[in-house]
Amino acid sequence: MILFTHHTGEPHGILGAQVAATFLERRLSAPSIVVGIERDFSKEQLLRFVDTHYAGEAKRIAFTHLCGRKDLMDLARELKKGGFRTVLGGPQAREDYEGEPGTDAQPHRFKGLKSIIDMAFQGPVDGLRSEDLDTRTGVCEFSWKKNLFLEMDWSNVYTFSDTLKKLEIRLGQVLNAIGCPYAGKLQTVTLPPPVSLRGRRVGEMEVRSEGCIFCDVSRDKGYHGLVERDGVIAQIAGLPEMDGMKIPFELIDEYPIRSLGQLLQETEKNGIKLSQMNLVCRVDDINEHASVLTEVLSLAQKHNVKIMFASIGFESFSDRLLHYFCKGITVNDIARCVETLRRLKDRFPNHLLYRRDEGANHGFIRPTPWDDPETMREMDSTIFLNRWHEDILPEHSTPFIIHHASYLGDWIRQIESTTGITFGREGTWIEWWNPSLKE
Ligand code: SF4
Repeated sequence: MILFTHHTGEPHGILGAQVAATFLERRLSAPSIVVGIERDFSKEQLLRFVDTHYAGEAKRIAFTHLCGRKDLMDLARELKKGGFRTVLGGPQAREDYEGEPGTDAQPHRFKGLKSIIDMAFQGPVDGLRSEDLDTRTGVCEFSWKKNLFLEMDWSNVYTFSDTLKKLEIRLGQVLNAIGCPYAGKLQTVTLPPPVSLRGRRVGEMEVRSEGCIFCDVSRDKGYHGLVERDGVIAQIAGLPEMDGMKIPFELIDEYPIRSLGQLLQETEKNGIKLSQMNLVCRVDDINEHASVLTEVLSLAQKHNVKIMFASIGFESFSDRLLHYFCKGITVNDIARCVETLRRLKDRFPNHLLYRRDEGANHGFIRPTPWDDPETMREMDSTIFLNRWHEDILPEHSTPFIIHHASYLGDWIRQIESTTGITFGREGTWIEWWNPSLKE
């Protein structure tokens, strides 16, 4: 069975798809491979490869982590037409299968993938049974638990652009936290309309959010605690090696600092040689644990392991936008965090990495629906005065994305229902920059 997923072609692993393929093969006796499809892929060549691969095989095919890509949805449609049984897993599987509410009265809204997907499964792959693969239809939901199946076969991952290429993974992923603790933070924020609607009679609206308002993890997954420590160590032990050491890996946990000391000690105790741990981290974790971080870095230096803050969720350098994002931090918090990192970098130059020129790519969302000249000026001057362009500002910002099932999707639908204005849809995304205005 093939599991198709979005991929950039970079040599990084894809934890969810790898675990699912390994589970299918080891627990359900369904030999499976992961194929990451690059954005510029040749559909013709891919369909030819699928034909050859499935010669004499049961025609079951899976998609995961669509990443809003319409080309992958079109591919699923074509394969279904060609007689395949199609399965969808990964983030937002249930919501993408079901689509937006109110599509009868608002036919421009995303209608979901019911017509092209036979079965969508939400949650971990653990609950799946062989017969589900062949017969079950609609949404199939499994709950998250701490002792997940997390085995990974590192030899069955490929990418496809115009031909199938084996992926030599040089950056793995290790799951430490299931979802994000911040996703439990319930808040209500009053949002002004997008600037494209200024001058129209559209008022401010209250929107409810859990976690960051734009986040696709918070609503979909929530938080289900830490993975059991043995399970984390087993994942690290299973990583491929390069030059006698484990390949660098990303620790999936938005609050990783509390686990680092023990992880470094236990891997050392188990004779596992680490090279580098990449962290995706919130600003408040660094600010609240600056002294713990100093101890962790001393230990990392002793064991010669690099700790890289690969992606810190700064997201904006304007207090107004951070408030709209429900990010739970201020520009002052960011300044404190960067000061800590710069100070620790002076002390641990070879074992702490956090700079753009060291490979980090921190969160910076722009454009957003609320950008105006005043906010842009204020943000540029804050960046300049704090010298953030020297180390933490990414080369490119990330445009603000509204997935139809996020809390912001509710906001857009509220504007649509109360004003008659509609916004474009592109696959699973809502085009907040593209309103259709009735005169
Ligand atoms: S954006 Fe990050 S910190 Fe915010 S809720 Fe999502 S996972 Fe958590």
